[in-house]
Amino acid sequence: MNSTPAKLAEAFTERFGGEPDGLWSAPGRVNVIGEHTDYNDGFVLPFAIKHSTTVAAAVRRGRTVRVASTFAPHDEPVAVDLDNLSEGSVQGWAAYPLGVLWALEQSGHRCPGMDLLVDSSVPVGAGLSSSAALECAVAVAANDLSRAGVSRRELAVVGQMAENRMVGAPTGIMDQSASLLGEEGHAVFLDCRSGESRLVPLDLEGAGLELLVIDTRVSHSHSTGGYAARRRSCEQGAEAMGVPALRDLSVEDLAQAERLLDDETFRRIRHVVTENVRVEEAVAVLTGRGPAELGPLLTASHASMRDDFEISCAELDAAVEASLSAGALGARMTGGGFGGSAIALARAEDVPGIRAAVEQAFSAAGFRSPAIFSVLPGDGAGPAA
Ligand code: ADP
Ligand code: MG
Repeated sequence: MNSTPAKLAEAFTERFGGEPDGLWSAPGRVNVIGEHTDYNDGFVLPFAIKHSTTVAAAVRRGRTVRVASTFAPHDEPVAVDLDNLSEGSVQGWAAYPLGVLWALEQSGHRCPGMDLLVDSSVPVGAGLSSSAALECAVAVAANDLSRAGVSRRELAVVGQMAENRMVGAPTGIMDQSASLLGEEGHAVFLDCRSGESRLVPLDLEGAGLELLVIDTRVSHSHSTGGYAARRRSCEQGAEAMGVPALRDLSVEDLAQAERLLDDETFRRIRHVVTENVRVEEAVAVLTGRGPAELGPLLTASHASMRDDFEISCAELDAAVEASLSAGALGARMTGGGFGGSAIALARAEDVPGIRAAVEQAFSAAGFRSPAIFSVLPGDGAGPAA
């Protein structure tokens, strides 16, 4: 669903009685480049998209929190006492919003009881981080309602803590940072080690470009399997190389890594090391020559994920190849991998041909028809208009 603010406020009243004290929104994100670099203390370059999650919220007496979502319109709200929350104590979707309140309290910021109704236009499981959009919408709502005055950087950490320790997904800090720090017409260059970030101009419209998201509709799950295995490989690789994190290795160190490590671990490392370099190059391109020149970096990132990190899949490869063959300037899978979405950077006039080529390739291969839409850099989380 994607209600107007007035409709969501009305739905809140139907659900909980009374009016919401306010509405807060937080966007999903797309990562331009820098994949699986975040938990290696490296660099990422996401932007906040215009698709967002909105939460209508009202403070209530006592310590009870009730949460409901327009995604489950017939379910009773999930109700908990804030004093009964503990790590991993909530199952299902409510672990995201309740995890944020738990993490805020764990970080020393007391929250009031409240009612929350969630609505979203961010597609779930498409690699656009509907999870961070949900966490960050709740985080800014709770921060304002409790007058805690928590900084955006700390709110990002709170969202990550909810996802890591209440949901149980070992994800990095990128998604929440993009959702909280994004700005219209800009990407967020984030150093995941220091937590420092800088806005980088990304005026796609002004350059006559579009960034297409191609949702393969192949579902992925961060909390299981490949994602955790890749994290482990990276940790083991860093340890074997005697550095705190893969961020500390340079391209020159790869020759030694190749001698020391088994082939698989070496290739995992090579992806992370070269990807960090590509992110820095992308920032240089965007501040200098402009977004039309980004293409080759995107395509090189895809090859690295496909061949070295091995997190692509047939559908993602088909989306990238078909886009490139129809004139995209660059394309790559985005997000955690094993499904989700690819992105393609293209001149606006080439977009119809690219859409047709991707749809045709999917149909010829017998894949489910993909969802294709374009995204633009929008503003970060805050009160909803
Ligand atoms: P994504 O790539 O979209 O972040 P995740 O698996 O990380 O995928 O997070 C998706 C999960 O977040 C959903 O399965 C659901 O539990 C929760 N979620 C996201 N948006 C909403 C929403 N509007 N209402 C309820 N739950 C939501
Ligand atoms: Mg997610």
